[in-house]
Amino acid sequence: ASLANPAQVMLHSVNARRQAIEQMQLEQDLRQALARSEFVLHYQPVFDLQAGRAIGAEALVRWQHPERGLVPPGAFIDTAESSGLIGPLGLWVIREACRQLGEWNRAGLPHMRMAINVSARQFLDPQLGQHLREAIAAAGISPDQLEIELTETVAMVDHAHTHRVFSALRSDGVGIAIDDFGTGYASMSYLRKLPFDKLKIDREFVTDVHRSREGQAICGALIELGKGLGLRVLAEGVEQKEEVRYLAQQGCDLFQGYYFARPVAAAQFEHSLMLPPAL
Ligand code: C2E
Ligand code: CA
Ligand code: CA
Ligand code: CA
Repeated sequence: ASLANPAQVMLHSVNARRQAIEQMQLEQDLRQALARSEFVLHYQPVFDLQAGRAIGAEALVRWQHPERGLVPPGAFIDTAESSGLIGPLGLWVIREACRQLGEWNRAGLPHMRMAINVSARQFLDPQLGQHLREAIAAAGISPDQLEIELTETVAMVDHAHTHRVFSALRSDGVGIAIDDFGTGYASMSYLRKLPFDKLKIDREFVTDVHRSREGQAICGALIELGKGLGLRVLAEGVEQKEEVRYLAQQGCDLFQGYYFARPVAAAQFEHSLMLPPAL
């Protein structure tokens, strides 16, 4: 009804126009950033309380902008995805994360698994498997040291294709995690049919879980579901000791979050692998 007002109609189209221009500008900037190698990866450790140590890392991309500083992925991933730039950017992420892991292997860091986020468009690219295999070989890492993270929505597009890609990756030994679990549209039937090996509970459910009846009901159900399906269950975005305690009691194995460590540049990563004292 508000759009019936001519002034608002005009304002609306002015905003839409401005948005389109900003979008184009961002696309152009991203293209240039790729050419100038301005992207960097930060790594956030994944802790296994049973093992008592960090067992892996998630690679998270950032844009080291010459004027704006470190730009988080939320500001550019959607545009990279809609413009197709996610292709070359995603390939760079795969190669760089594998290369870094190879370096850590050689430096004698404890055996770790690297998790890489893969977007919908990347997952639908028929070359994904080949890109992963090439990056693994070039870095001299073992395929079972690599894991890709897919959101529920990504995993569900075109089921036949998804199934083929999953099988190929899994037979190579690459792990597949379902990311942000509980926030998308996964149906139980996908969980049953696709060979995931890890389920990541979204931060939304983890925050304040020790004092939220809803959070407890949801996390409890997700942990049980994951375990019942033989998956490892990871809680994302843990910031408080009480959250860790509660979820560990409920049978959650793996933790990632500011309580343990923030994502950091490779040079700082080794220093972030210590478990916090006394949980
Ligand atoms: P995600 O995959 O769910 O990654 C987790 C996000 O939560 C990261 O944000 C991480 O820094 C943040 N985080 C971790 N622990 C905590 C915590 O305790 N508290 C809070 N408040 N946040 C925490 P980031 O790095 O800004 O990444 C945002 C999203 O961008 C990622 O969400 C992922 O969907 C996407 N992304 C990041 N890197 C890549 C990439 O290389 N490729 C693709 N396709 N997407 C990426
Ligand atoms: Ca992720
Ligand atoms: Ca996530
Ligand atoms: Ca998330």
